[in-house]
Amino acid sequence: MFSKELDTSVMYIKSVGPKRAEAFAQIGIKTVGDLLFRFPYKHLDRSTLLTSSRAYGYVANGFDGELTIIGTVSDVDVINTGYKKFLKVSFRDQGGFFECLWFQGVKYFEGYFEEGDVFAISGKPSISKFNRLTFTHPDYDKFTEEDEQTFLNTGKIIPVYSQAKELKERNIGELGIRKILSYTVDKYLYALEETLPNYLIKEYSLLNIKDAVKNYHFPESKELLEKAKYRFKFEELFYFELIVALRKRNYKEKLTGASLKVKSKLVPEFLKTLPFELTKAQLNVLHDIRLDMASGMPMNRLLQGDVGSGKTIVSLIAMLIAVDNGYQAVLMAPTEILADQHAKNISAMMKKLKEVFPEREVKVSLLLGGQKKSVRKKALQEIETKEADIIIGTHALFEEGVELNNLRLIIIDEQHRFGVEQRARLRQKGITPDILVMSATPIPRTLSMTVYGDLDLSIIDELPKNRLAIKTLLRGESQLQKIYEFIVEKAKSGVQSFIVYPLVEESDKLELKAAQDYYTQLSETYFKDLRVGLVHGKMKWTQKDETMQLFKKKEYDVLIATTVIEVGIDIPDANIMMINNAERFGLSQLHQLRGRVGRGTEQAFCILVTKDEIAAKQFRLKDPEFLSQLQLERFRSYIRLHSMIKYTDGFKLAEIDLKLRGPGNIYGTQQSGMPELKYADISKDQSIIIAAKQIAFNIVENDNTLNKTENILLKKTLSKKFSQALSYALIA
Ligand code: ADP
Ligand code: MG
Repeated sequence: MFSKELDTSVMYIKSVGPKRAEAFAQIGIKTVGDLLFRFPYKHLDRSTLLTSSRAYGYVANGFDGELTIIGTVSDVDVINTGYKKFLKVSFRDQGGFFECLWFQGVKYFEGYFEEGDVFAISGKPSISKFNRLTFTHPDYDKFTEEDEQTFLNTGKIIPVYSQAKELKERNIGELGIRKILSYTVDKYLYALEETLPNYLIKEYSLLNIKDAVKNYHFPESKELLEKAKYRFKFEELFYFELIVALRKRNYKEKLTGASLKVKSKLVPEFLKTLPFELTKAQLNVLHDIRLDMASGMPMNRLLQGDVGSGKTIVSLIAMLIAVDNGYQAVLMAPTEILADQHAKNISAMMKKLKEVFPEREVKVSLLLGGQKKSVRKKALQEIETKEADIIIGTHALFEEGVELNNLRLIIIDEQHRFGVEQRARLRQKGITPDILVMSATPIPRTLSMTVYGDLDLSIIDELPKNRLAIKTLLRGESQLQKIYEFIVEKAKSGVQSFIVYPLVEESDKLELKAAQDYYTQLSETYFKDLRVGLVHGKMKWTQKDETMQLFKKKEYDVLIATTVIEVGIDIPDANIMMINNAERFGLSQLHQLRGRVGRGTEQAFCILVTKDEIAAKQFRLKDPEFLSQLQLERFRSYIRLHSMIKYTDGFKLAEIDLKLRGPGNIYGTQQSGMPELKYADISKDQSIIIAAKQIAFNIVENDNTLNKTENILLKKTLSKKFSQALSYALIA
């Protein structure tokens, strides 16, 4: 929007004038251009407009979507059941009657709804036991006569603008701002100038800027609204990525790494030994990695995939490529137990490989803090003499002067902090290894691009096909006996269970005692015929490991854990995860715990046990984007527990977690230069970020100064939007 007309003061807009223009200025809106880009924060979809009797029919026949009914308030009733108060507002319309219920904010709503007022009620209704069409906590909109008219005639999707108090003080209400925008869009839309090159708009079927602005305010359809939003998200992210691409291109051009390609039959033979086919997502990621490794420039890649998506195999193949080229690869795990598990699994796989491909034996060495001196010495020697091909350990590998002379690839499992510093240290030693960071924690892309600066991103967004979705259940503590019986029953058919208690933090002694108490209690009562193991936070890793190994070998039916069960622990026959005091765990923790089961082909269960009153409460989980801050705060534990039931997708849960806690709390990175995004949401728009990134990088690949004719507009827009970053990227 470079055109002059858009610089016109809002003062000249119909029904604004100088006083109201001041109010607009206070919220940062001075010009017509500013106003055009003040988009609604949500829309009310009133395109499915029904009478109550038709709506009743719909719902009775299984319709499960949102719908809108316009009705007149006929009765407002506070109902007191003795221990609980709620509000019932009855409405009538030409088709009959319907009701709305509020269990929260009774006082407020009681005063808000008055007999005779007309409202549009939107939500997902159900049919009550009294056979009434009922909305619980619906969205609503009060109508003036005028509004009702336009509304009744059109049944549109209607914009809702955030209500600044500065505007309210000047009597610009919801309807007022809608009118002002409607006028502005009609009159000034023509003046908008395109900010994306035509070839991009065509190729990716984006809306042009005029259609996008128009439909963002007053959508002709849901589809066009989505396309409008998409265009602005895309544009925002695309320009951001263009800067990243320009910067990175310079960085990469200055550093050189090895060019590693598949040389012998090692990798193909390894693939043949796998008892399963790689998923499409795994293959795609491998493709990225192979290109990186062959490129002659250092790989710097983040591999994201939910728990159980099969990241380890992918990383192992990368390691074998390094080995195939005569180099060493390091696999760095976050804990010693996991390092140990990786070593055991990978050694077993290498043994199999050796049987079919004896020409090149792959030597796996494990280096851990708690090892016996002699074992450690041997490992160190293997590493130094380059006898070790794959070296597995924890971050201590990089801290204790281990001689990694032949290192070309580092795989980092679940440890995000390995970063700039360690890389710099390696570089000082003259090593620029390929780096692959693996994570089951869904980190919003934009974050990874800033915090982890120059990391490329690959995603495994698909679980192996043989997996059944885990059944997640919420139960009150009074159901404990039944749950234990279920566990015993299942144990008879060979299903193992985890029982997790939250960490007791008071003192070491207390924690130990609590853990042992649970253990004794259960193994003497419900589980007296089962074999029960215990891991707790006060054990050394070797002890924990021993117990985990016994569990894995099915020497135990039940494992009681009062400590975090490591991310990545792989126990195929454990199919029940029971979590006590589930309300005390964070959402990402719950998701990670749930990921410990369901790794085999059997039906797995995650049983969340909580206080009876929490489990008993009817809670309708709204889509998180519609939750207000107040709701988030008040219903935190309900939202967490119900999200676990509703969603299995780690990214979705991470997004909710992000909402519940705020990004600063999760990532502690507010200071890290995260870009401020107006349209895109780092936790939701990952696929757009990926697309934008790919396109931006392609453009820079072919025109790294953006001087080609078709890219002039890009440069012009960039220098308006990000002048400083642009000059930096072009010079650096
Ligand atoms: P994560 O991504 O959590 O690290 P893992 O790599 O540990 O996942 O894989 C989980 C389990 O799935 C392992 O037992 C692994 O052998 C198995 N697995 C990996 N890829 C596939 C596949 N394509 N098909 C079936 N099983 C697979
Ligand atoms: Mg793993």
